[in-house]
Amino acid sequence: MKKNFDCIVIGYGPVGALLSIFLSKLGLSVAVIDKNLDIYPLPRAIHFDEEVMRIFQMVNLSEQISKISRIGTKGMHFVDNEDNILMVRKGSDAIGELGWQKSWYFHQPQLEKLLRDNAEKEKNFISFLGYETQKINHDRDLVTVTSYSKSLKKELVLNCKYLVGCDGANSNTSDYIGKEIKDYGLKEKFLVLDLKVDNRYNNIKNLPDFTVQHCDKVRPVTRCYISKKRRRWEVKILPSDNQEKFLESKSIWKFLSKWIEKKNAMIERSQVYTFRSILKKKWFQDRIILAGDSAHLSPPFLGQGMCAGIRDVAVLAWRLKGYANDKLSNKDLVNYQNERFPHVSAFIKLASEVGKIMSNPDLLKKSEKTQSMRLFDFPKPRLKKGFFYTCSLSGRLFPQFIEGNKKSDDSLGYEFVFLVLKEDTINNVVIDNKILLRKIAKGFSRDWMVKNKIVAVVIRPDKYIFGSAATEKSIKALVSHFYDLYPI
Ligand SMILES: Cc1cc2nc3c(=O)[nH]c(=O)nc-3n(C[C@H](O)[C@H](O)[C@H](O)COP(=O)(O)OP(=O)(O)OC[C@H]3O[C@@H](n4cnc5c(N)ncnc54)[C@H](O)[C@@H]3O)c2cc1C
Repeated sequence: MKKNFDCIVIGYGPVGALLSIFLSKLGLSVAVIDKNLDIYPLPRAIHFDEEVMRIFQMVNLSEQISKISRIGTKGMHFVDNEDNILMVRKGSDAIGELGWQKSWYFHQPQLEKLLRDNAEKEKNFISFLGYETQKINHDRDLVTVTSYSKSLKKELVLNCKYLVGCDGANSNTSDYIGKEIKDYGLKEKFLVLDLKVDNRYNNIKNLPDFTVQHCDKVRPVTRCYISKKRRRWEVKILPSDNQEKFLESKSIWKFLSKWIEKKNAMIERSQVYTFRSILKKKWFQDRIILAGDSAHLSPPFLGQGMCAGIRDVAVLAWRLKGYANDKLSNKDLVNYQNERFPHVSAFIKLASEVGKIMSNPDLLKKSEKTQSMRLFDFPKPRLKKGFFYTCSLSGRLFPQFIEGNKKSDDSLGYEFVFLVLKEDTINNVVIDNKILLRKIAKGFSRDWMVKNKIVAVVIRPDKYIFGSAATEKSIKALVSHFYDLYPI
């Protein structure tokens, strides 16, 4: 059996599975280890956003995933006790500038199965299920991972150049890196109920086809429309509640009775969670790296926790290929954290603010900041410090254009692309086509470059803009800065 890999991923949740797919497609040998034999069965993510769908597109999964997801057209409505609308997170069925609709709803176990099925098709990939990782050793060049299967009573020892801990909220991998955290202060207990509903009943049909957040000083409640067959309730558990009694079937149905009756639905899964708003202060040490919930935890009020982990994957995968092939120095890992930490913080801060408003709607009246949230959208933070050539466009997402029925990212691929206005430019600049794919802008991408007054742009595989040049003369500096960071 093969024991040495370019990369070992601990955790076969959505983040670990997607990272495995990216890395295998990039030609790295990958092993994933998970302590469980099966997909996690409890209620978790139901929503992802347009950027995440674009990331799925990077590994040709968007079409398959769109078939198991629903577009969220109506956003999220925050209401008071009299059902007056307090604020709304925008929804829309329009395709946005990233080439996809803003919001998608899905069933996490179905998505995880799809990701695992696709990972298992990759030829550079192997999974070890039922093995719990217990020990990680590393020297300058190699990481050794020791895992144990209780059912097989068997130890598994594997080596790799890079180890990524996608091992979730209770990550052991993060213990090897450092336990210090940044806490945004939200810590609330919620009961999460996933219901399978019978949509033939009128009272089910009449329930709203969007998410409603009932803001209430005593007991905030979230109601989510996942699909015609599935709905979710999230109910705050109060310190004064007798939790055991509250969780009895009779009490749950009594609580739900103002919206739904037992004969119209069945409780598919239920779980009490303590929602937190936390970031690990350190995401890497030598050749050990964190991604997903092992690095950050968001309260689910915006449906963004998994999305953050998926974004980690997109900015990490091309780096890992560069490190494993000795093209990029792993000193660049500091850029991975510099890019992702402030980005995910912006989402976690907003989710925490939203959580606080849900428990205290008066906050909305108080400050100008919260007033401006009455009609709000997801943040779109620009990446500042990192793998960039600093200019006015660097660190922003390159748009995705749709011409005919073609999406522009499909022609760019998960590559570094050097996009220019004029063919002459390509001939005048010495570049290695293996790392920087040369392309001449046409159609909408050409219009976009003209509008932004640039003649060349370098787009990263994750579709962030590395840098741009406004004149033919400044192209040389752009390209040589790229090769300073990513030598041939
Ligand atoms: C109620 C709720 C609602 C949510 N809603 C949303 C939402 O709508 N949208 C959204 O984007 N996010 C949402 N989230 C967050 C989302 O579910 C998580 O962010 C996501 O599942 C994290 O994925 P992950 O792969 O990082 O970790 P996980 O899915 O937790 O996977 C970690 C894996 O690591 C394995 N593992 C752990 N330790 C070891 C070990 N020592 N050895 C081997 N294997 C190990 C585990 O078995 C597990 O399979 C929600 C979360 C909750 C709780």
